[in-house]
Amino acid sequence: MKRSRKLTLFFVVLSCLAFSSLVAGSFYRQERRETVADFTAEVDALAGIMHQNLNFQFEALYLLKSLFDGSTQVTGDEFHRVADETLDRHPHLLALGWVPRITGGEAEPAFPLHYLAARGHRSDLLGVDLATVPAIQPVLLAAATRRQVRLTAQLPLFEDAPQVQGMLALLPVFGPGAKNEQPILRGFVVGLFPLGDLLAELLATFPLKDIDLTLLDTAAPPSQDVLFAQASAIGPGSIPAYHKQLTAVAGRQLSLRAQPTVNYLVRHGSRMPLLIMLSGLLISFLLAAYLRGLVARSAEIEQLVEARTRKLHEANEKLATLSMTDGLTGIANRRNFDSHLEVEWKRGIREQQPLTLMLIDIDFFKAYNDHYGHLEGDRCLRHVARILNEQISRPRDLVARYGGEEFALILPHTDQAAQTLGEQCRAAIEALALPHVASSLATVITVSVGIATQIPQRGSRPTELIARADQALYQAKSSGRNRVVQSL
Ligand code: GH3
Ligand code: MG
Ligand code: MG
Repeated sequence: MKRSRKLTLFFVVLSCLAFSSLVAGSFYRQERRETVADFTAEVDALAGIMHQNLNFQFEALYLLKSLFDGSTQVTGDEFHRVADETLDRHPHLLALGWVPRITGGEAEPAFPLHYLAARGHRSDLLGVDLATVPAIQPVLLAAATRRQVRLTAQLPLFEDAPQVQGMLALLPVFGPGAKNEQPILRGFVVGLFPLGDLLAELLATFPLKDIDLTLLDTAAPPSQDVLFAQASAIGPGSIPAYHKQLTAVAGRQLSLRAQPTVNYLVRHGSRMPLLIMLSGLLISFLLAAYLRGLVARSAEIEQLVEARTRKLHEANEKLATLSMTDGLTGIANRRNFDSHLEVEWKRGIREQQPLTLMLIDIDFFKAYNDHYGHLEGDRCLRHVARILNEQISRPRDLVARYGGEEFALILPHTDQAAQTLGEQCRAAIEALALPHVASSLATVITVSVGIATQIPQRGSRPTELIARADQALYQAKSSGRNRVVQSL
């Protein structure tokens, strides 16, 4: 196979592969974009639900607050009735409490936990002054100043149960101040929210399958910032993590960090890109095989055509030679003689060089045929042709069978030597000593030779030369045969 064909084949296959890679790549990227869009939409939806749910939890605080807003003397029974009911309706709330502001002389006000309704009835926390807990104190202050509910960072609320973690929501309760005075802070309604559990619960209803998820409290110190984490064993996929900031809840900025796992990507991706790539490979392979066959076949055909053309050429040459050769003697035939004489005549005109024509006729050949038979006659003709052919040596000289038992020699650039050459031919035939008992002249085959020489002139025809040579031959015959006569 030629190098250029191999290269073309290589480039066709390469282009096919490149094209299928491009299509497969484009499909793959499109799928990835859709996967990322699906994934972020899932996380966004969860963040929205999470935010709604948190606000719903705060309703519990406002409900309890309304109890304290309505009365400055809320009894423990009243508190527990409302708080227990509220806890029943808010399963994600761990505890509700009342923290009054206690002032005493010059000292800083204290905020002891006065009432506590907790799942599991943790009465041991009663009396704990929240203002003395470093993680709670600034949030107390912020809630009072802003008069809004505020959340602490996640804390272990019970010393003996550090695994029970939650964020404390503090809702300030104000009472009317003295005339023209600011309202007075009476205390805080508090609620304990385990946000991690809340998210876990939400995920049970709205599962984010195959997504690693972390709920972060962005304002908390790094050791306490993770509120919830869901991580699969399979490991994250190649899509970068998505950070979704939740709308600020009670002064705390929460965010969801989500990352799809390998399973998620596998579940959302189709096998289309792989199929396209494999099909591309298969098509490239088949195309390569087909083209290879095609190229090999065309090379074969080319070789075949080359061989046939060569043979045809040879046959043509053979045919041309045959058409110019005398079948019996193998020397030039009459047609060859005519065209050669024509060519040499024209050349003689151009070069103004003498051209000699020699006509040679076997003596008493009819008698030879009659005596020895035609086959022997043919054999004799072949001998004579061979001997005559041996007498000439120049490339432009030609020996032809002029007709019957008559031969002709065309000898360009010859004049003086013509007589000698004619004599040489005659003697050579005689020396051949082919017996001819029927000859009335000799016992062997002899020939008569007529020679004519002339410098061809413009406007003249070679027939002139032939006529003169024929005349000379006639003279040779009539003057006794077996001789050479040169036309003057
Ligand atoms: P002359 O000496 O006057 O030339 O007498 P001739 O007998 O040779 O001349 P003639 O023209 O009477 O006879 C020529 C003979 O040549 C007649 C023919 O049989 C014979 N001949 C011509 N062509 C062929 C050939 O191809 N093969 C054979 N065997 N004989 C041929
Ligand atoms: Mg004759
Ligand atoms: Mg003769």
